[in-house]
Amino acid sequence: MTFQHVSWLWDDARAAALAGDEVGLLVYRSNLLGADLRLTNYGGGNTSCKARANDPLTGKEVEVMWVKGSGGDLGTMKRNGLAALYVDRLRSLKNVYPGIEREDEMVELFNHCIYDLASKAPSIDTPLHGFLPFRHIDHLHPDAAIAIAAAKNGKEITRELFGGTVGWVEWQRPGFDLGLKLLACLEENAAQGIALRGIMLGSHGLFTWGDTAYDSYVNTLEVIERCSEYLESNYGKKRPVFGGQILTSPEQPVRKEQASLLAPVLRGLSSGAQKMIGHFTDDPRVLEFVNSADLGRLAPMGTSCPDHFLRTKISPLVLEIAPETDLSDAAKIGKTLSPLYENYRKMYAEYYAACKHADSPAMRDPNPVVVLWPGIGMFTFAKDKQTARVAAEFYINAIQVMRGAEAVSEYTALPRQEAFNIEYWLLEEAKLQRMPRPKPLSGRVALVTGSGGGIGRAIAWKLAEEGACVVLNDVNEERLAESSAAFVKAFGRDVSVTTRLNVADRDSVEKAYEAACLAFGGVDIVVNNAGISISKSLTEHSEEDWDKLYDILAKGQFLVSKSGVEIMRKQGMGGDIVNIVSKNALVAGPNNAGYGSAKAAQLHLSRLLAAELGPDKIRVNAINPDAVIAGSNIWSGGWAEGRAKAYGVAVEDLPAYYAKRTLLNEVILPEDIARACFALVGGLLDKSTGNVLNVDGGIAASFAR
Ligand SMILES: [Zn+2]
Repeated sequence: MTFQHVSWLWDDARAAALAGDEVGLLVYRSNLLGADLRLTNYGGGNTSCKARANDPLTGKEVEVMWVKGSGGDLGTMKRNGLAALYVDRLRSLKNVYPGIEREDEMVELFNHCIYDLASKAPSIDTPLHGFLPFRHIDHLHPDAAIAIAAAKNGKEITRELFGGTVGWVEWQRPGFDLGLKLLACLEENAAQGIALRGIMLGSHGLFTWGDTAYDSYVNTLEVIERCSEYLESNYGKKRPVFGGQILTSPEQPVRKEQASLLAPVLRGLSSGAQKMIGHFTDDPRVLEFVNSADLGRLAPMGTSCPDHFLRTKISPLVLEIAPETDLSDAAKIGKTLSPLYENYRKMYAEYYAACKHADSPAMRDPNPVVVLWPGIGMFTFAKDKQTARVAAEFYINAIQVMRGAEAVSEYTALPRQEAFNIEYWLLEEAKLQRMPRPKPLSGRVALVTGSGGGIGRAIAWKLAEEGACVVLNDVNEERLAESSAAFVKAFGRDVSVTTRLNVADRDSVEKAYEAACLAFGGVDIVVNNAGISISKSLTEHSEEDWDKLYDILAKGQFLVSKSGVEIMRKQGMGGDIVNIVSKNALVAGPNNAGYGSAKAAQLHLSRLLAAELGPDKIRVNAINPDAVIAGSNIWSGGWAEGRAKAYGVAVEDLPAYYAKRTLLNEVILPEDIARACFALVGGLLDKSTGNVLNVDGGIAASFAR
């Protein structure tokens, strides 16, 4: 069989090197399966193998099953992502099974079956693998198979497509009982002389297997390829895909601009007690769906596969506004959208009230995760960027499922009660309770100007460490690229976005915020850090020097604050502006007319904005560092020489000179400024605005009062 809809990645040489190592081959196969998102969604599905191993207690050979443990992703799974269990013990649990009403109690008993004490916690799908007698098993969530599994007559389609060799088990929440159902399906078919090659789980996914890792891989790919082929040959046959396109999207630059303008409004509406991070995509698969005739019918039905709706909530919110809507009046657009959100929250509360059980956990955040804007694309909102991005990927999976099911039959979603039973499952709640506490800045977006190096980079780094998403920017692209690579290496690809920024240029400032809104949905913390310094005597100081200092320091802070505040106001969630000023804003010294007075302007602008922005809950504070030498940009370009000359010391003696003139006799580092910045925005000083915090080792002459 040749594969057109799935990637054939098996490498005989690599597999041969693992010959005899069944667990190694399982990991290898799992990684290949997880590498192709058409085979399974991120984090979805699990794989297993059963082999003989020595029991450490008796020294005798026993049958052990290695199965993907709870959590983790097949694509990156290693041996330590597996749970290993005694097969006979696992199967003997049938003897103590108290029935479906109490099947959740079985999960704890899995721990009594552990063979390898270094096992990852066994997942809820463990009995599904354990009861089937096959050596290698793949359970995946391929869009193409779920499309058939979620089709109204999916059972008949499956039977015809595979001549009865792929069985069918109706939708049921995963657990001990579903494991028994899989075994029953296998045995019923065997009684009729049919040897199954797989089982389709209604509304959920696919089980396939083989005697060896290779056989299982081939079988899995063949079944999924066959499903895909079948869907492919049916698109547009009965009727156009999704009933045809009834809306034409504007060109991509317009889509992005509209999305960036609306994102902060949506972020404000989507954030409850917890601030949400946004993600935007105008993927062609999304546009095909949101521009279609069927959007209004299909979107409210919700998703099918449990993985899909756990990540995307029961249904998306569809924005009933035209793609080219004028978004210049944020208050007006907020008023238009508020009722849509209120209706969504009401719908969610009704769903909760109608479906809840006596012991259900309290209602969770009722705001939508997925927000669809016909003509423009899809926004997703979650507690962090990765979760928001993955929610978008999952909704694209859900779109593909609806597309396929509608092409061959009629799409059916899970009944609301079943969806609820998964969403508010006590085992799911226990998993949520085990999650680590969020970091102080999680859910917040920070833009630190000049974060390509020096103090700016140290501040952005600290804020990222404390959980914030950061918008890295600089006027120097080389520095910026280096900084960007370091952030991705340390924090992964979901924590930072990179954009060139010249703070003195209004267009450049607006573009940087556009990048922030598209990447994260808006901004909460603006740190005006970018700066230069020129030290010259009055008569040597040129007009160009003067303009440059005032453009970057004073005007830059003005422009960056102005655009940042516009976004903060759209969000309606307050915000923070921190201005990195200087001791020189307060202390007069020689050869500093331009720089010192521009710094004084920055400091007073901080106070003025603190006075103006209080009603918006936007706090404006300043940090006055002094003599930060390490990694700073300002020490190039003759500044050090200039200062050394002004103080009458040699350049190499400057750090010692600076340290000695402080009360604490300390050298000031970029990390010191970064910690001060975090202190201002980290939550402990929530009631403070208009302050100046010195980080200069103590200089009595620059005490603010
Ligand atoms: Zn599954």
